[in-house]
Amino acid sequence: MQVAPAPFGTKIQLISLWVPAPVPGPGGLKKNNYLRSALRLRPWCETGREMNLNYSSKLLENAVAEFARLPGIGPKTALRMVLFMLRQEPEDVHRFSDALLQLKDGIKYCECCHNLSDTARCAICGDAGRDHSTVCVVESIRDVMSIENTMQYRGVYHVLGGVISPIDGVGPGDLTIGDLERRVQAGGVREVILALSTTMEGDMTNFYIYRKIKDSGVIVSTLARGVAVGDELEYADQLTLGRSIVHRTPFEDTFQSGNPA
Ligand SMILES: [Zn+2]
Repeated sequence: MQVAPAPFGTKIQLISLWVPAPVPGPGGLKKNNYLRSALRLRPWCETGREMNLNYSSKLLENAVAEFARLPGIGPKTALRMVLFMLRQEPEDVHRFSDALLQLKDGIKYCECCHNLSDTARCAICGDAGRDHSTVCVVESIRDVMSIENTMQYRGVYHVLGGVISPIDGVGPGDLTIGDLERRVQAGGVREVILALSTTMEGDMTNFYIYRKIKDSGVIVSTLARGVAVGDELEYADQLTLGRSIVHRTPFEDTFQSGNPA
């Protein structure tokens, strides 16, 4: 039987196989992380042994596979890193691996704010010079570092460990919202600043927290939202520009540095 030739212009579809991406989440590998992993697929051709690199050593292959697990690192970059490590002095490689092991074994979460710390209570919570009646709620320690870099905030923090995201299988119970409630109810907190991402999940989490603590008598505030510094108005989206007008600020506040909170 003769197979008719494909008509001119027929596209040949390439079938790609998608596999779950590893997603380490708060609290290690739990069922929610597996769910998140399954939802965030990535092409199989981008994973571990896909590049058909001919490894001359199983040890080399294992090391490359481990480096390739890092976020944003593909197998070729992983191979370059491994070969770099191979060129280092043995004591340098030991120092590198020891730093990782000590990090994993020794790092703690602050018992008060859940920030990463070497001690049971982090340096910020242990600083008597800070305003412990103002608590800034953030998603992760990277947000703590970002706000600290502004040098405008003198209160303390509460790290949630993420935001509520049903599609990712993250519910309120996976975050430290319960600890925040207990912290507020224990007294001594005057204001809670919600500093979460301006996404639907962030807004949902803001509202959930607000409902949980609004009856405690604390002031609940959120970060100002508006046109970013350096932006031209004609390029601002309608929602941002609209919020900027609704939440306009006195002009004097724009050139006065103000006192850190
Ligand atoms: Zn702390």
